[in-house]
This record gives sequence, structure tokens and C-alpha cells, in this order.
Amino acid sequence: MKLVLAHCVCHICKYQAELAMLPPDTYGEFLLWGEGGQCRYLLALTDAVYAEVGDIVDEITGGGESGWESADNLQRVFGVVACDKAADGESFGIRRLPRCPGCQGSPLSLDRYTNPAVIVDVDVPSPSYHGWKQLSSEDKRKRVGEALRAAAVGKAVS
Ligand SMILES: [Zn+2]
Repeated sequence: MKLVLAHCVCHICKYQAELAMLPPDTYGEFLLWGEGGQCRYLLALTDAVYAEVGDIVDEITGGGESGWESADNLQRVFGVVACDKAADGESFGIRRLPRCPGCQGSPLSLDRYTNPAVIVDVDVPSPSYHGWKQLSSEDKRKRVGEALRAAAVGKAVS
């Protein structure tokens, strides 16, 4: 698949890295990163497990006040609740970058996309859901509920 190279930085130790990312105007597709740098590609629009977890999130939260809020909750928890962990034992997450290889302290941050865009053609595997698929409906709901509570920590709760 075609990805765009982006400059990423660590705000603590100033480590710099170039990571292959989806273009900035992408909709309905995500790269999920593990803290150790492994990556999965999710085509969310047609992914049955993504839809299933979204339904459970809406059941638990009452759907939120807007579609945006609902999608926000889903994206916060999807990687950790549904995707099998990477070979290095790290879980995947939609809205984060790998941990800084320099200081191991904080996640890298996106600084800027290459401009003109440097396109790279790489194979990124899709996430697998073996663990998720073995859960009962009750356990799925429990796992999503716990992840939603964990994700709410650090978010302003009104
Ligand atoms: Zn660092």
C-alpha cells in the first residue's frame, strides 16, 4: 500500500524519525501502532469487528451526544479491546505513535508530512482478532466497558 513519509519527533529527547503514515486527508482508514513500532492497517469502513465494537460502545455510552463523540470513544478503545497483541507483547492503538526509540520515555509525535510528499510502497498487515472472537458477548461488553473507563481517565470528565 502507498503511504507518505512523515517526520516525527520526541519532545523529551529530540529524537527524530521518519514513519510511513496514511495521507492526511484519509477517511475511514487507520494505522494502528504498537508501542514497540509494529503496525497494522485497518480499513474501518468494511471491518466487521470495528462495527461490532462500535455497537457495543454505543450501547454502553448511549451513543454519546454526537456521531463524532461516538467515533472518538471507539477509536480510543478499539486497538486494545479487539486486536491481537504484537509479537513483542504490545497492544495496538489507533491514535498514537510508537514509543520513542531514543529515550523510551514518551510516544513520538507527528511533526510534519514530507513536502513534496515522499511516497513509499509497503506491506502493512491487517489486525487479527483471534482473542476477541473467542470471547462471549458478556465478556466483550465487559472488556469494552473497562477500556472506556480507562480511556476516560485523563479526559476532562464533566
Ligand atoms: Zn525520546
